[in-house]
Formats: sequence, C-alpha cells, structure tokens
Amino acid sequence: MPSVSLCWLRRDLRLDDQAALFHALQAGLPVLCVFVFDRCILDQCAADDRRVGFIWQTIAQLKQELMAAGSDLYCLVGDPVEEIPRLAAQLGAADVYANKDYEPDARARDTAVATRLAEQGRTLHLSKDQVIFECDEVLTGSGKPYTVFTPYKNAWLKKLSTTAIGAYAIDDLPSHLYPLDTTPLPSLAELGFGDVHLEELKLAAGPRGAAQLFADFIQRIRGYKEWRDFPATKGVSYLSTHLRFGTISIRKLVQFAWLDGSEGALCWLNELIWREFYQQLLWHFPDVARQSFKAEYRDLAYPNNQDWFDAWCAGQTGYPLVDAAMRQLNQSGYMHNRLRMIAASFLVKDLLIDWRWGERYFADQLLDFDLAANNGGWQWAASTGCDAQPYFRIFNPVTQSQKFDPEGKFIRRYVPELSALDNKSIHAPWMARQLPLGFALGRDYPQPIVDHAVQREKALALFGKTPA
Ligand code: FAD
Repeated sequence: MPSVSLCWLRRDLRLDDQAALFHALQAGLPVLCVFVFDRCILDQCAADDRRVGFIWQTIAQLKQELMAAGSDLYCLVGDPVEEIPRLAAQLGAADVYANKDYEPDARARDTAVATRLAEQGRTLHLSKDQVIFECDEVLTGSGKPYTVFTPYKNAWLKKLSTTAIGAYAIDDLPSHLYPLDTTPLPSLAELGFGDVHLEELKLAAGPRGAAQLFADFIQRIRGYKEWRDFPATKGVSYLSTHLRFGTISIRKLVQFAWLDGSEGALCWLNELIWREFYQQLLWHFPDVARQSFKAEYRDLAYPNNQDWFDAWCAGQTGYPLVDAAMRQLNQSGYMHNRLRMIAASFLVKDLLIDWRWGERYFADQLLDFDLAANNGGWQWAASTGCDAQPYFRIFNPVTQSQKFDPEGKFIRRYVPELSALDNKSIHAPWMARQLPLGFALGRDYPQPIVDHAVQREKALALFGKTPA
C-alpha cells in the first residue's frame, strides 16, 4: 500500500492557499513536497542569473518551514521527466499533485511526466492555481477567445462577481506531512551558479518577502491610480517576481483588491486582469511566442542595427529616460511598467529593431520574466499584438520623460553623470542652451544615437507599408 502522495512545486512556491498541496492532502495520505532544479532550464541560464538566486533562497525558506513541521522539501536536480517518476517509484508513492503551468514548454514537460507516471499506474493531478480564470473559462458569447482587452476584462469581472474564489485553507499542516529526516539542499555553486545577493536588488525572496511587500503596498494601494506611472515614486506593488514564482496567492490579491473596491485598488485589479488576458492569449495562440499576432506585421524589414541594439542594452542611447530605464533593468532585474513601454517603443519605433530582440533581452534580464506578459507587452508596444498600440502612435521619449519624471529624479538615480543638469535640460541634454561647467556632451554622456523626428517618419513608412 502506498504511504505517501507527492506534491511537486514549480511556479507556486508557497505552502498557504496552494491548490496542489490542498488536493494532495485531500487524498488522505501523508504528503511529501518535492522541488526539481530543472537542468533543462538551468543549463540555459548564465552563471550569474538572478532568478536562480531568488528561487534558491525561496526553496531554502520553504525547506526550513517544512523541516520545522517534521518533514522536508525534497530537492532533486535533473530532468523532471526522469526525476519525478523515479522518486514516485522509489517511495512507492500513490499519485503526484502539481499546479498547471500554461507555457508551451511546461505543457510538453507535464504531458511527458504524466505519460511516464501513467506507465507506472500513477496519475499526475494538475490544478488551477496561477490564475483566477484559465484557458476556456472566459470566452466570448460565440465561444471564441477574447483578443481585445476591455470586453475580456468586463467578462472576467462579471464572472468574478458570481464566482466564489475563496482560499485553499490548509489546517494543521504538520500532522499531514510525510515525516522525513533533513535532506540536502544543493548549494548554488553545486548547481553551477555564483552567489546572488538579492539584498542588493532590494527584493526579499520567498513567501516572507512577498508578504512584506504586500503589507507595504496595502498602505499605498489607494494612491495606485495616481502614482503608478511615475517611476521615481513608490507607486506600484513590486510584486511581479512573487507572482511569477507563486510566492503569493493570486486569489488573495484579487480578493483584497475586489473587497477594498477603492479607485486605486480597482485600477490595480485591472493590471492583474491584464496578466490573465496575456496568459489566456498565449494558451489559445501559442504561436505568438515566435511571431507577431497580427499576420500583416510578420515580415517587416526591420534594419536591425547591431550597434544601436548594443547601445540600447547598455543604456547608452543618449536619451536619458530610456538609458535610466535600461540601467535600472541591468542593475536590479526590474523595470517600471511605464519605462518598459517607453524602452520597448524606443527600440522598435526609433531604432527600428525587431521586437523579438528586445523581448529576448528582457527575458534574460527580468527577475519577473513571464513569457505571456513579456510577449504581450512587447507586441503591444511594437503594435504587432492583439489590442496593441496602433503603429502610428509613437511615444516621444523626451515628452514622456518630461511628463513622467518631471524633476529628473529617476534619471539622476540611474544616470548619475547627468545629475548636475537642471530639470529642463536633463530630459534632452542636446537641446540645452547651457550645460553645467565641465560637462561635455559626447564625452560624459552620449549624443543621441538617432533623431526621434527622423526615425518616427521611418517607422511610419516601415509599418504603414503593410495593408491596414
Ligand atoms: P503592478 O503595477 O503593481 O501590477 C501588479 C501585477 O499585475 C504585476 O505584478 C503583474 O503581475 C501584473 N501586471 C501589471 N501590468 C501588467 C501588464 N501590462 N501585463 C501583464 N501583467 C501585468 N510583467 C511581468 O510580470 N513579466 C514580464 O516579463 C513582463 N514584461 C513586460 C514587457 C513589456 C515590454 C511591457 C510593456 C510590460 C511587461 N510586463 C511584464 C508588465 C508590467 O510591466 C509588469 O508586470 C510590472 O511592471 C511589474 O511591476 P509591479 O509588480 O510593481 O506591477
């Protein structure tokens, strides 16, 4: 007789309000939680990848919690398709419980694991946990996926108002866990990675880090609508990495915002709905991961200037707010949403570089990298996605800077070589009547690598050539 069920943690790294853990416990056998450091993913990461540090610290936190409860988080290193069935067989486990992951590669992995387990007479049970409404749960009246946000949001909110989302309450966890002596946690060095100092990124890992951030944001949520677009102000939640790795429950966040009901909270809820909009889009149209959603923009002849791309990546374009944004990304693994829109638009519409180059760079750098949200954001900014910014609406990087960083506070934080410029000149140093003594444009900070007005016309010509 099996004496254990396995709960396989992936992008749901917490023990409270956790659907898979709840269902594993419901099955009645003691539960052992398992995590696999997936070699197929790790082997594609650079040795200083910050996300691996975030995951490692989170796993260490969960391990501590489970050890205090008389069990452990059993860690494996390898290919989950091999490791999970092997562990299940070794322990003579009953079934395996996990939460659904909607990304194409994850779906393929789960199908392979389920097949292997089925060959052993075991089942992989997958639950919805990452989103409120998944896959086909919000469809148009004619049963099709939504491709425009506002009607999707309205249908989503209508469904929320009639759905009890509740929480997966887990009572007395210690007495339902599989008792186990402490097992080793492979060090970052053993996994092939350097130490990552998340303190420097100002991001505390694990459910404890998520709870601190959320507690802080609750105090500010009512001002979200007013302040969310100003990168120098603490206006947003900074919860994206925690949402990415499931260190906080989406049900908890949505319930809080819905019950609060203030203008700020509902505006924030709107962003959580964008997250689900892009998730369902990737589910229904997995090809967006490779190509433009809109067929007419699939064969644009982007000039793709490599030097300009390198300057953009390094935050050396000569456009201060774009450079500050890219340096924030490079230094911290985070970029404010307003800046993601500006930096992405600049890459595609000013530098005329294929959005997929920028998407790839963000994917490598962002701590909160999420295939659906990143792809959705890039295709929005590039005008190639569904319900995207129309191609002829092109952000002006200078007026965006004047509007959203009026005193140049954010620019000064990340581009310190401009800190002596006055609040007017700092947005476009090349237009300044007078620059500070001792400061030379072209020596201390680059001249703009392109002229926005000229590039704008070229972008209109590039995109406008295609049939509307
Ligand atoms: P808040 O403003 O506090 O929002 C709360 C949560 O809502 C976020 O944590 C996120 O989960 C979700 N959210 C907010 N805005 C969006 C949005 N436009 N689309 C989807 N979800 C959203 N978000 C990611 O989580 N991962 C990415 O890889 C990512 N790449 C992006 C790339 C581009 C080009 C653009 C324009 C946007 C991207 N976003 C991405 C969306 C958004 O910029 C971030 O979610 C947000 O900046 C994270 O900060 P926050 O947690 O403080 O957000």
